[in-house]
Amino acid sequence: MKILILGGGFGGVYCAKRLQQIKKSYMDVELISDNNYFIFQPLLPEVASGTISASDAVTPIRQMLPNVKFRNAEIQYIDLKNKNIKILQGFRRRQHKIDYDHLVIALGQECNLEIIPGLKHHSLTMRNLHDAYNVRNHILQCLELADVTQDAKLKKRLLNMVVVGGGFSGVETVGELKEMTDRLLPFYKNINEEELKFFIVEYSKNLLPELGNDIGDYTQKVFKKRKIKIYLKTALKEVSKYNAILSNGKTIETNTLISTIGSVATKIVKKSSLPLKYGRIITDEFLQVKGFSNVWALGDAAIVPNSSNVKDEYSPPTAQFAVRQAKNLAKNIVLKSKSRNLRKFKYTSKGSLASLGFKVGVGKVFFFTIKGLLGWIIWRAFYLTFIPSFSTKIRVLFNWILEFFVPRKAVLTESLNKKSVSYEVYKKGDIVFEEGMIADGFYIVQTGEFENIFRKTKNGKIFKKTYKVGSHFGSRVILEGGRRTGTITAKKNSIVLKIERDSFKVLAENFPVLNNYFNNYLPKTFKNLSLKELNENF
Ligand SMILES: Cc1cc2nc3c(=O)[nH]c(=O)nc-3n(C[C@H](O)[C@H](O)[C@H](O)COP(=O)(O)OP(=O)(O)OC[C@H]3O[C@@H](n4cnc5c(N)ncnc54)[C@H](O)[C@@H]3O)c2cc1C
Repeated sequence: MKILILGGGFGGVYCAKRLQQIKKSYMDVELISDNNYFIFQPLLPEVASGTISASDAVTPIRQMLPNVKFRNAEIQYIDLKNKNIKILQGFRRRQHKIDYDHLVIALGQECNLEIIPGLKHHSLTMRNLHDAYNVRNHILQCLELADVTQDAKLKKRLLNMVVVGGGFSGVETVGELKEMTDRLLPFYKNINEEELKFFIVEYSKNLLPELGNDIGDYTQKVFKKRKIKIYLKTALKEVSKYNAILSNGKTIETNTLISTIGSVATKIVKKSSLPLKYGRIITDEFLQVKGFSNVWALGDAAIVPNSSNVKDEYSPPTAQFAVRQAKNLAKNIVLKSKSRNLRKFKYTSKGSLASLGFKVGVGKVFFFTIKGLLGWIIWRAFYLTFIPSFSTKIRVLFNWILEFFVPRKAVLTESLNKKSVSYEVYKKGDIVFEEGMIADGFYIVQTGEFENIFRKTKNGKIFKKTYKVGSHFGSRVILEGGRRTGTITAKKNSIVLKIERDSFKVLAENFPVLNNYFNNYLPKTFKNLSLKELNENF
C-alpha cells in the first residue's frame, strides 16, 4: 500500500513519523517536499534577527525519518482521477509521475500578496528560511547605507521599518527585529536611536487579537516603551517602491515592508479539483477529504472539524493542531486499511505563547495568563520541548545561551532577494533614477508614464523624453558605459518591469534579435546627444 505524503512541514513530517513508528510491513511510505529540511516556523523571527543561526533552526528530514522514503522535489500537479502526482526533480527539473494508494496533503498555505496593490512587488514575507534570511540581509543593508548616505530623504526611508499584521508572526517579528537593531546601533555611529523607527500596522482593534484584550493591551504597553509605533484599526491600502500608504491617511516613507498577513491555498491545491473553503481543503472529522476515501489533508492546508472544540467549529492553523492531526491521520490510514472504524479528530489547545523580544513574553496556558519575563521563559521552554530532534534542540539552546554573553553578528551575507527580473511600483512624482547614477537595470513600462529629463550639456541643452506603456528606458548606459545622463520621474502612478543590469547586458549582447534591435535603437534615438559630451562632466 503506497502512502504518499506531500509537504515536509509540521503536518507531513509528524504524519510520516507516526507511520514510521507504527511500521506495518504492507505500508510503503514516501514523503515529498521542496526543502530537505524541517523548519520550526515559530523560530523564524529569531532567525531573521540573528538570535539563532539559520542552519541551527532546521532539522534534516532524512535524519528525522530514517525509515521513510524521502524525495526532495517540487510537486507540480495532483491527478486525483488517475491517483498519481507529477513532480519536478533534479538539476534539469525532469518531470516524474508517482502513483499512490493513499494521498496525504500537508502543503500548508502561501502568502496572499495580491490583496493589496503593490504588495507583491515591494514586500518581504516571513514564512520560510529564505524569507527570514532575506529580511535579515535587507535590514542590515538598510543600516549599512543609512550610516553613510548624505541624502536625508533616503536615510529616513531606510530607517523606517514597517511590519504589517499584529498576529503572532507580526508581533514576534517586530519585537525580534527591534531587539536586533537596538543591539547593533552602537556599531553604526551615524545613525541616532530616534532616526530608526519601527511601525506595526494591525486591522483589528488590538494586537494579538487571538489572545484577548488584556494581552493585547500589555503588548501595546511593551511596544510603546520600546518605541515601536502602533497603528490599530488600520489597514495597509497600497504599497509603492518608496511608500506604505495606510487607510488612516498616513503615508510611511519606507524601503522595508514585512507582510505577515493573508494566506491562500498553494497553487497546486488551487489547480486540483479538491473542495475548498476559505482557501483550505474541506475534510471530515476523520481528516478525509470530502468526496474521496483515499485522500487526506491536514495542517494549514485543510479546514478540519474539531470534535472537542466547543468554541470554534474548525481547528485553527497552528503547529500545535497540525501535529495532533498528523498523529490522528496516520492512525486513521491504518484503521482504514483494516476496514475498522476511523477515529474523530479531537483536541483542546493547551494555550498559546508569543515572544515580544528579549526577556518579554505573553501567552495563555490553560486558564492562566502569563506576561513578562515568566512568559518569555515559559515560551522558550515550551518551544524547546516542541523542537523535533535532539540535535536541533541542543543547537537552539546553545544559541539562546550565547545570546547572554556575546553580541549578535551583524554579518551581511549575499541577499537572496536580488531578483534578475522584478516589478516596481512608482507613485506620480517618484524618481526611478537620477543623473550621475551607475546603471542598475533596464526598465519596461507596464502601466502609467515616465519622463526622462537629460541634464544640461555643455552647450546648455535640455532634452525631454516621455515613455509610455510598452516603451523602455535605461538601456543606453548599460550597453555603452558611463553614468545615467538623465533623471527619470513617474508622470503618473506607474509600474515598470526591471531587468537587473548584468542579466540585461548578457541578453542584449548575446541574443541576436535584441542585439540588432539595440544596435539600431540607440544611435537612432540618441542621435542628437553625444554620450561623450553628456558624460565628460563627471
Ligand atoms: C513566523 C511564524 C510563526 C509561527 N508561530 C507559531 C506558534 O508560535 N505556534 C503555533 O502553533 N504555530 C505557529 N505558526 C504556525 C505554524 O507554523 C503552522 O500552523 C504550521 O507550520 C502548519 O504546518 P503544515 O505542515 O500544515 O504547513 P507548513 O509547515 O507550511 O508545511 C508545508 C510544507 O509543504 C512544502 N511545500 C509546499 N508547496 C510545495 C510544493 N509545490 N512542492 C513541494 N513541497 C511543497 C513546504 O516547503 C513545507 O515544507 C507560525 C507560523 C509562522 C509563519
